[in-house]
Amino acid sequence: MRILLVEDEVRLTDALSCLLEKEKIHVDVANDGDAGLLFAEKQIYDVIVLDIMLPRKSGLDILKTIRKEGDSTPVLLLTARDAVEDRVAGLDLGADDYLVKPFATQELLARIRSLARRAGGGYNTGKLSIGNVEYDSRSYVMKVAGREFSLSAKEGQILEIFLKRPGLVFTREQIMDKIWGHDVDILISNVEVYIHNLRKKLKKGADIEIMTIRNVGYMLKER
Ligand code: CA
Repeated sequence: MRILLVEDEVRLTDALSCLLEKEKIHVDVANDGDAGLLFAEKQIYDVIVLDIMLPRKSGLDILKTIRKEGDSTPVLLLTARDAVEDRVAGLDLGADDYLVKPFATQELLARIRSLARRAGGGYNTGKLSIGNVEYDSRSYVMKVAGREFSLSAKEGQILEIFLKRPGLVFTREQIMDKIWGHDVDILISNVEVYIHNLRKKLKKGADIEIMTIRNVGYMLKER
């Protein structure tokens, strides 16, 4: 799971990222509104945790922008105790949940998990399926019309991205960020190789395919 944490209190983001990483949740942190929007627009996150009061751009502005762009990534707002109007505005703008500060970190964790589960399924059982393709993210086994294929970890992670958001176009850069993180130098051709391998397996009877959208990226669709 990969989440984006947009919050300007550095002490809080340090503590939270430490805790979340321990739970095997990858965290990217943005400490102001501009950076937050830039990160959020990559559309590579399972959940976005968004503080409302931020320098440069408020959490509500970020939420409004990404929803207008058609991004339905689950958003958890962090709000001050007395900011009832902000919470109402946030929910109206399409936030999925909110948490009032100060909060217990365990509660934040539980809410993040619940949002991720609601959005993509899969985190509780590790199983995803579309059409006649089933995938188990714990064993990296893909079943196509009942026939089993063992995937490499990276192939599996890439397939998972597509199965969670069919019909959505992912650029090569988004896939690289999601699988390898921001800081790693990975050749774009690596993504192409993994997609090529996945397609070979899907060709053996799957009723879904990974389409190339010219000059943009890839999209999963049913045949
Ligand atoms: Ca703040």
